[in-house]
Amino acid sequence: GSDPLWLFGDQLGPHFHGTTGNRDREVLLIRSAAAFARRPFHRQKIHLVEAGIRRLAAELGDRARIVDAPTYTAGLRRFGRPVVVHEPGSHAAEALVRRLQQEGLVTEVLPTPGFVRSKVDFASWAKDRRRFVMEDFYRDQRRRFGVLLEPDGGPADGKWNFDHDNRRPPPGRSTLPVPAPWFPVEDDVDEQVRADLDKAERDGEIQPVGVDGPRRFAVGQVEAEEALDRFLDHRLATFGPHQDAMLSADWAMSHALLSVPLNLGLLDPLDVVRRAEERYLSGAAPLASVEGFVRQILGWREWIWHLYWHLGPDYLKRNELQAHRKLPRWWRELDADSVEAACLRTALAGVRDRGYAHHIERLMVLGNHALQRGYDPAELTGWFATAFVDGFPWVMPANVIGMSQYADGGIVGTKPYAAGGAYLNRMSDHCGGCVYDPKKRVGDKACPFTAGYWAFLDRNADRLRGNPRMRQPLNGLGRLADLPDVVARESRRNRF
Ligand code: FAD
Repeated sequence: GSDPLWLFGDQLGPHFHGTTGNRDREVLLIRSAAAFARRPFHRQKIHLVEAGIRRLAAELGDRARIVDAPTYTAGLRRFGRPVVVHEPGSHAAEALVRRLQQEGLVTEVLPTPGFVRSKVDFASWAKDRRRFVMEDFYRDQRRRFGVLLEPDGGPADGKWNFDHDNRRPPPGRSTLPVPAPWFPVEDDVDEQVRADLDKAERDGEIQPVGVDGPRRFAVGQVEAEEALDRFLDHRLATFGPHQDAMLSADWAMSHALLSVPLNLGLLDPLDVVRRAEERYLSGAAPLASVEGFVRQILGWREWIWHLYWHLGPDYLKRNELQAHRKLPRWWRELDADSVEAACLRTALAGVRDRGYAHHIERLMVLGNHALQRGYDPAELTGWFATAFVDGFPWVMPANVIGMSQYADGGIVGTKPYAAGGAYLNRMSDHCGGCVYDPKKRVGDKACPFTAGYWAFLDRNADRLRGNPRMRQPLNGLGRLADLPDVVARESRRNRF
């Protein structure tokens, strides 16, 4: 018969194990003790991956075998038969698979169905390209896979991108008036996982951060489908307009909360996209929302994945702005209660309590703060990868090194995402109840984001001067009479 299929912990769905070529293969799942040791993963993240593996094993019944081992290689040796694998999701795992192939433990490496576009196909798109931007890639994806197109091949309703409709400030209320997201009901798998992780924690095998449970994201096929259906039927229609807004009492807003099942490989991304498109075609959801969502999955998620391979492992060492400050302890330990700035406290509390913050909290609060304070980009990348439930190696570099920290000097983004309190005040309801005043840059009430913004520009003025998009902000620096005070104070500041 055919060789068994070895699945990594982020390859758990039927588009991996249920295809015609794989359907008759036995499935091997290796639980490596090394995977979560040594680094401070969020407790809920470990839980999700563990529960995901156990669910799949239960779904597959006799077809599946779980092997516990100190490392993957040891697990394969223990299993004792050569296997086939799908392309894994990190440089390290890719190198491992290549080694195992040389040793004869892996007989074949299949392409990954975890992303819509293949690596070969991306390489031919990227070759000789002068403009290397997400928007061009995204349009190519739409054309290639025939998503949201008119019969003449143009974009639905004549427009590729409805982004400017999707940047509204929050409405004047404490929560978005949208149906609640899907949440799981925990069962005995969760109970088992929890007991095992409690023990591993007591025995010092793992040193997790963050609070434990309740589990909030989908694992297993049934849950992943339920979560997707709930989003498509009840929340997709309102996905667009307030995507960039923040409300202190509404952590989920109208976000999809699908990054976990997507990144665990439970949902087929093209299927997700097609089903979203159907909602537009049937009139159930407006184009601006559907296009916005499709852009996230078919555009951004794919772009970030391919950039990971395209930019290579050395990209993680980029540090264009020479940021070398260590992450402070309160940040690493997710000690949100010690933070006074309401936006920062709320975002960090989200990470502590759920291992989740939505995109704008990641980019414009957590990332923005780190950028302004000059936190080391590589250390920050490690933090995002371990503290977030949806963090995996491939998703970090372009998002953290590139988009959020500008540590690549402008490959992923065209300018640093640094913003002061005025932006945060416009896009959130945090500032009203905050001890700091977004308009103040000096004195006790100086907003750390407003003052931090000017201190950041001052520190990096020479490095940013060549960027035309920074000309105006840098000119603003020269008009601040109190700049020396701001810079002196912010360089000493360690309470936010
Ligand atoms: P929604 O806002 O509802 O978006 C829908 C889906 O689009 C997401 O589920 C995700 O699969 C996809 N998506 C959108 N943007 C991106 C992107 N930039 N990169 C990858 N996928 C994207 N995403 C992760 O999946 N894992 C991470 O560890 C992660 N870290 C991030 C760190 C920083 C500093 C930034 C700026 C972004 C990060 N993102 C990450 C991207 C994005 O913030 C999350 O995908 C999103 O917040 C997940 O929540 P959601 O499912 O409710 O997403």
